[in-house]
Amino acid sequence: MTTHREPLDSVLEAVGETPLVRVHASPESVPVHAKLESFNPGASVKDRIGEYMVRAMLEAGTLNPGGTVIEPTAGNTGIGFAVAAGQLDVDAVFVVPERFSVEKQQLMRALGAEVINTPSEDGMAGAIERAHALAEELDDAVVPQQFENPLNAEAHYETTAPEAFEALDGEVGAIVAGCGTGGTLMGMAEYALERNPDTHVVAVQPEGSTYGDFFGEDAEEGEYKTEGIGTHDVATNELFDPDLVDDLKTISDEAIHGEMARLAGEEGHLVASSSGANSLAAREVAREIESGEVDAPHDAVVTVFADSSERYLSKGVYRSFEEWTG
Ligand code: PMP
Repeated sequence: MTTHREPLDSVLEAVGETPLVRVHASPESVPVHAKLESFNPGASVKDRIGEYMVRAMLEAGTLNPGGTVIEPTAGNTGIGFAVAAGQLDVDAVFVVPERFSVEKQQLMRALGAEVINTPSEDGMAGAIERAHALAEELDDAVVPQQFENPLNAEAHYETTAPEAFEALDGEVGAIVAGCGTGGTLMGMAEYALERNPDTHVVAVQPEGSTYGDFFGEDAEEGEYKTEGIGTHDVATNELFDPDLVDDLKTISDEAIHGEMARLAGEEGHLVASSSGANSLAAREVAREIESGEVDAPHDAVVTVFADSSERYLSKGVYRSFEEWTG
């Protein structure tokens, strides 16, 4: 385990062990703490699964040195896999629908990965189909499939959660995390619930996302600007287990936009929209624990700030709400 105080041999050794920082706009008696995942070398939480999954597949022999990982992804996952693949002698190919952020595609290419664009109108489903077709053509290629691969959640069970628990001497009352694949929340929740089955577990989504379908809510589907979390079809969220989740918080783009600005202006956090959502939800959970509305085994809430706002400056995250969403 690195303390970041000794010389490291590779960027992969700098994955994880991110700082856990108090969110000040939370009750004194029930603090919120956030893992700052932009401290990873690829600047997001997804470096964790990139390293963990590539190493695990190499160990299991489902992938061999010189082989290829092919993932349909538009975002941080590609960068995380590209960092790991580059250092572990594995080729990386990402299939990205054309409309997605050019910045992230540039970073993937800089890391040595190949990026293949599919037509925007074919959506993510088109990218997934193309990734599998490509894997069939190549020798020794795997599609890690973060949405259904248990190694995704396992990465957080093995790293993100134990780091937070160690920092707080095991006194974690609630875990709050926005769900894209759900890997972060599921891995952390499993770890927390093994230690104390009463840990309060809360999923977070932007308004317009349909995670509510898991809980029998008639979720109203809509567009949202917040990136990295939410779903439009829960059938794709195979890792998400609603039985582990006590509450689902749904936050509007407008509230998230305000919280991103507040986190930067008041607390010095240059974090992106999913962090804004997590911060608001975690602060609400802390107030619920403080007021006694929610029972939690400890008076502390842990959440995750998944990536940095710098990755989205060109999208106007710090401009007015109308400019951001326009
Ligand atoms: N925030 C951001 C910025 C992300 O890229 C992701 C991953 N899609 C998440 C949060 C959610 O993580 P997970 O897929 O583990 O639910």
